[in-house]
Amino acid sequence: EDQIQRHLIPWRDDPRGMIALAFTEPVAGSDNLLPCLDVKAGMKTTAVPEGDHYVLNGMKHFISNAYCARLYLIFARSDLTKPITEGASLFLVPRDTPGLSIGRVDDKVGQRLADNAEIILENVRVPKEDLVGEWNKAMVSRERSVRHSHAFEGATCVGPAQRAFEMALDWAKTRIQGAKPIIQHPNIAIRLGEMWAAIQACRLMYSRVAWSADNFQYFDTRLFNVVNPFCAESLMKITLDAMQIF
Ligand SMILES: Cc1cc2nc3c(=O)[nH]c(=O)nc-3n(C[C@H](O)[C@H](O)[C@H](O)COP(=O)(O)OP(=O)(O)OC[C@H]3O[C@@H](n4cnc5c(N)ncnc54)[C@H](O)[C@@H]3O)c2cc1C
Repeated sequence: EDQIQRHLIPWRDDPRGMIALAFTEPVAGSDNLLPCLDVKAGMKTTAVPEGDHYVLNGMKHFISNAYCARLYLIFARSDLTKPITEGASLFLVPRDTPGLSIGRVDDKVGQRLADNAEIILENVRVPKEDLVGEWNKAMVSRERSVRHSHAFEGATCVGPAQRAFEMALDWAKTRIQGAKPIIQHPNIAIRLGEMWAAIQACRLMYSRVAWSADNFQYFDTRLFNVVNPFCAESLMKITLDAMQIF
């Protein structure tokens, strides 16, 4: 409650009050997510207690909204002798904290509004009251915070897939080859039908994950883990199919 009052309420009505969640590092991507239980695997950014502060050192990359965010949720290793499930902690760090700077901003083919960037941490001093959740238990907090985001990521794939399908459908109805609209050729009709079915499957899957994130007694970790790759792979296939129809 104290953290909400100090960090979130002042930005409540300000669209610039964006938060970025930072766990990925150049040497640690999937190892943070799976997570890998080898003690040498996972993030390398460190958090060391010093008086009434923690001192953070390290670097994050690929962080969505890192460039425009005003507040960061930063994961760091608080016990390097343990795997990240037992030795990582989570911190709230405002943008203007001395020692925090933004490095390279990535150029991407999609999601271009989410300005993915590096966050550099050099002796960043975080007051003890800005530890989020329990010391060494960041991965528990992470699981809670990403429950909804996987459904969101699935949904972001369906928008472009739906648009590619609609454009291909319109074209197939008007393009005449073989003396009739190409949609009347079975190969094109079947391809469009399969594209439509894949979009419905993605919608059902991310809706189910979103609903179960709110109704946690029905939460299925397996579905949660596959929704993102399933929707992303479907988007790739649907857009390639659409290109074949043009
Ligand atoms: C658009 C976008 C937004 C992002 N936003 C954020 C953000 O806001 N915050 C944040 O912290 N991170 C963010 N990330 C980073 C994202 O979490 C990482 O890209 C992801 O964890 C994968 O890590 P990596 O890119 O280092 O790939 P790697 O982990 O190096 O994976 C490379 C390949 O190896 C495979 N692989 C990896 N480990 C294994 C294994 N154990 N067994 C079999 N195969 C394996 C992977 O499936 C992949 O195909 C974002 C990434 C993207 C693309």
